[in-house]
Amino acid sequence: MFSKKLDCILSKKSEDIPPFYVMEVLESAQALEAEGRNIIHLEIGEPDFPTAHHICEAATAAMARGNTKYTHSQGLLSLREAIVESYRQKFGVNLSPEQVIVTSGTSPGLLMVFMALLESRDEVIMSNPYYACYPNFVKYLGGTPVYVYTNETKGFALEPETVRQYLSPNTKAILVNSPANPTGHVMSAESLEGLAKIAEERNIPIISDEIYQGLVYSGEEHSILEYTDKAFVLNGFSKLYAMTGWRLGYIICPKECVRALQKLHQNFFICANAFVQEAGVAALKGPQDHVAEMVETYNVRRQYVLKRLIEMGLDVRSEPMGAFYVLADARKFSNDSLELSRRILNEAGVAVTPGIDFGDGAEGYLRFSYANSLENIKEGMDRLAAFFEKELEV
Ligand code: PMP
Repeated sequence: MFSKKLDCILSKKSEDIPPFYVMEVLESAQALEAEGRNIIHLEIGEPDFPTAHHICEAATAAMARGNTKYTHSQGLLSLREAIVESYRQKFGVNLSPEQVIVTSGTSPGLLMVFMALLESRDEVIMSNPYYACYPNFVKYLGGTPVYVYTNETKGFALEPETVRQYLSPNTKAILVNSPANPTGHVMSAESLEGLAKIAEERNIPIISDEIYQGLVYSGEEHSILEYTDKAFVLNGFSKLYAMTGWRLGYIICPKECVRALQKLHQNFFICANAFVQEAGVAALKGPQDHVAEMVETYNVRRQYVLKRLIEMGLDVRSEPMGAFYVLADARKFSNDSLELSRRILNEAGVAVTPGIDFGDGAEGYLRFSYANSLENIKEGMDRLAAFFEKELEV
């Protein structure tokens, strides 16, 4: 029907957006699997555990009851109440369900928060390494990511005094992610409080991605909401409740900003899936022992992965305390993490994420996800050890 190819009509910004490399590694790994290769997946940040039975039951019961229609654009009140209650219990903060907008995952929540905040050339301060998609959201909306390079020996901590040096009249927000992807860093109360103070002084918000909340293996964890209400919090069910495919997340925001976000949600997404929201209520209000068991299991894997990576000559200069990732320095073997991860996939049959996906601050690094069974992790580590041993021989 069309005489010319249609790719010429794509917007420049959609042509220019970088891929999410971890998804590309996954897709390459799947292509090898389709050819019959056995691949160990240490690339993707997706819990290997099934979603708990009582959560699945809540969704099927909701469907059977006919809860298959649109919900309120902010989400079911019962779910928003359960979210508010979980923040009260964990962090002692008093929120209102009116401040919550339930979304189809944390990712659309991030998009909406950036859409609501950014004018062109507005700056968002974030650490480097960062979660791969953050700068892409910001740039797509005409904003500018401003990177604060964090120091591995200090656990990749985003320190308030350093952040201060990057403030400008164009700073629109400071973005934090704790526990962090890809570094596993868990921010201290002092750092969060210090950043909250800057936000108050400058009258700018903190955007706090708390998706890995609960996945902490040592020490305390905190929410930004303990220190300021000038915050847009993103959270969801993908990680802690092993619900990646359900697509359920939420935004908690200052009351005066709810209406704008609600209008964005109505226009662009309408609402999150009705029966999935009911599953979210069951996740938050039901038994939590399965969560504690998963956290315990991740911790065993974390310690094992750290030990093996160090034994095979990769450097991990501070212990990752949260999420389910280890970001290890592989510069002894290569400064080109994309090429190295390609070779590891093709030659060793292990999928790992190249550090460059998380910014130039992580170039030469590789990210290992331990959201896989210990058995698979062991096999993956054996293959990696053999690969790196051979590299040293060359
Ligand atoms: N933020 C971070 C830091 C993540 O690692 C991820 C998932 N990889 C997300 C947000 C998106 O999560 P969701 O599945 O809720 O969209």
